[in-house]
Amino acid sequence: MTITNNQDPVLEHLTILKRQAEWTGQILLSSPLTEGAGMKILECAERVSLSPNHPFSPRPITFYCKHRQCPICQWRRSDRTRAEMHQLFNVNPDLADGKWLFLTLTVRNCDTWNLRETLDKMTTAFQRMTRRHFWQENVLGAIRYTEVDVGQAERDTAHPHFHCLLLVRPSMFAGNNYMSGERWADAWASALQEHYIPRVKLERFQGNPGQIRAQVVAVAGYSTKVRADVPNAQWLITTTLQLKGLRLIQTSGVLSTIAPQFNQDDVAEGDRVLPRPQTYPGATFRWDGQSGSYYSL
Ligand SMILES: [Zn+2]
Repeated sequence: MTITNNQDPVLEHLTILKRQAEWTGQILLSSPLTEGAGMKILECAERVSLSPNHPFSPRPITFYCKHRQCPICQWRRSDRTRAEMHQLFNVNPDLADGKWLFLTLTVRNCDTWNLRETLDKMTTAFQRMTRRHFWQENVLGAIRYTEVDVGQAERDTAHPHFHCLLLVRPSMFAGNNYMSGERWADAWASALQEHYIPRVKLERFQGNPGQIRAQVVAVAGYSTKVRADVPNAQWLITTTLQLKGLRLIQTSGVLSTIAPQFNQDDVAEGDRVLPRPQTYPGATFRWDGQSGSYYSL
């Protein structure tokens, strides 16, 4: 039986992602430089088991390729990131009483073949900023997520940026050491050592501890979301090569002490054999590439 309607919203969503993954995998397969990654992505979620009644396993049981360019695995990673953040608050409930900022640090878009060098520069600049007096005095811990989008104005360029969750002292949040968005932009510009003022976005989380927690969890998921834009083939192949082996999540300060697991990126580069599920409990489906849908088994 072909699944063509909304019988199960998870399967329906997975179908859309699987189609994107097939497209992504085929493009990467077409280049000898990325064919390993392409093969791996095409194997992702071929056979799927749903166990909707299991409260701890709302996600399908399947083989996940874990490649960072795989839309299915990006979706899973965003979910995992949210779950890990909830876990962090469960173990450290005081964190919800803390002051949190969400900072997005950008640079000018770069050529895709220059992405790795640009990210290296950004990382060096970020580390430089963390050594500055204002940071040392006020920022207790940080989680930095690297995201690379398609350039909006020029589609063949890359838009690398950092999403940063900062746990700060109250005096930086609203007091003597208050940092406005403009001051953050100046600090980032000074650390970057470029001749332009980069765009910086700043959000302060407000509310009771439950609301703070919800906002932190939400932006952690947002920072690891599935890429919304559809890149062209050359963009995809080049950025896959440029990102190979790079770590895209980094913690520092107190958050690296209490959440070292966040540094494990959960990605593979397409040339490693990954374990597959031993059993598929519940309703099981198999992907059919011809029709672009899952069949029940
Ligand atoms: Zn995958």
